[in-house]
Amino acid sequence: QRTTAEWQAADAAHHLHPFTDFKALAGRGTRVITRGDGIYLWDSEGQRILDAMSGLWCVNVGYGQRALIDAATRQLETLPFYNSFFQTTTPPAIQLAERLAEVAPPSFQHVFFSSSGSEGNDTIVRMVRRYWDIQGQPNRQVIISRLNAYHGSTMAGASLGGMSGMHAQGGLPIPGISHIEQPFWFQLGQGMDREDFGRRAAAWLEARIVQLGADKVAAFIGEPVQGAGGVIVPPASYWPEIRRICDKYGILLVSDEVICGFGRTGRWFGCETMGVTPDLMTFAKGVTSGYVPLGGVMVGERVARALIDEGGEFQHGYTYSGHPVACAVALANLELIRGEGLVERVREDTGPYLARLFDELSAHPLVGEVQTCGLMGAIQLVRDKASSTVFDPEQSVGMLCRAHCFENGLIMRAVGDRMIVAPPLVITRAQLDEMAGLIRLCLDKTLAELGQ
Ligand code: PLP
Repeated sequence: QRTTAEWQAADAAHHLHPFTDFKALAGRGTRVITRGDGIYLWDSEGQRILDAMSGLWCVNVGYGQRALIDAATRQLETLPFYNSFFQTTTPPAIQLAERLAEVAPPSFQHVFFSSSGSEGNDTIVRMVRRYWDIQGQPNRQVIISRLNAYHGSTMAGASLGGMSGMHAQGGLPIPGISHIEQPFWFQLGQGMDREDFGRRAAAWLEARIVQLGADKVAAFIGEPVQGAGGVIVPPASYWPEIRRICDKYGILLVSDEVICGFGRTGRWFGCETMGVTPDLMTFAKGVTSGYVPLGGVMVGERVARALIDEGGEFQHGYTYSGHPVACAVALANLELIRGEGLVERVREDTGPYLARLFDELSAHPLVGEVQTCGLMGAIQLVRDKASSTVFDPEQSVGMLCRAHCFENGLIMRAVGDRMIVAPPLVITRAQLDEMAGLIRLCLDKTLAELGQ
């Protein structure tokens, strides 16, 4: 067994981490996570850490679930790989497609598999353009998305995303992607009634459609609750209005369920919490609780009928589409979520309890607003509470707070000065109390460090 310093030296010598300043990381040394159990992780120094981010929003059933481990082992022994290209498939892929059709809203009876959310969103770009080709409207090419959105790191995923830093590297977005503002009340709507703001934010979509010409627009894509953008919970008025506008212009509505899917918001899919039925949904992460990679697109009736009845060959697919080990793990994962009633637990018990705990934290002098939806939550740090004045971004207050969390055995994510949680869905009330206690401690330490 190597020491932490040895792990760090080898890591710095050979491993380029995603979304990382390589030089800065090499200087600082990486943290080596060695083990997980339930909602906790341990590092190579033996420190226990409460993982309030479920890995990267994915370990919904927590670490160390025997049913998933056994499902992977059994499938590896029986048939570790076979593809679904040669008019062939495998039992786990068939069963998972069946099971997804059961848990998704009734209009979703078909699935196209990928290995990640990024690949799922790449599939969306090709699939919606293919749909409009089949309809004899090939000019409908543009997909409208939102600023500050994250939809993945492939060329199409990063283009759909609205992160300017990502666009600056690699000449993105690809042609045919157009971005509108996000429904971020704290930043863009203060002074306005939240629901009025939701309708105004939806109207930005209509304005863009009119500007581009509806006959050019293929689809609108968004996350029910923007996750990596900072857990931006839209007003209740937003999504029904978005659906109405898409219907008015015949535009396809795509829900990116990569974070919100599989119970995170208290329903199987986030769009259900938002009260809308999209035409397509992308998923990944929580489908396997991150134990192995799997993603895909749930295809609603409107697009499925066109593709199946009139489309001919859809020239798209991945070696690992419908990977049998990934599908076997997903089946065990969905069975665990269903058997333990985790979706209902989030909706009726732990989600409302998190909301209560965050409400209490909102009195803290550093906190400008809190937002939760199911088991995802955000705490907006502010310089002046009374006037909701934010910090100078140069101060990197969110990163200061994140460092205190790390030191005190809590993983929270900082999105600018918005502190984010999305704990495993198996978390108990007592563990949520522990998490909230640690958050309060770290807010106090951050406040003390700022000398306020
Ligand atoms: N879509 C959303 C909403 C995500 O949060 C992510 C990843 O965080 C992705 C897509 C990309 O998924 P992946 O990292 O599996 O490619």
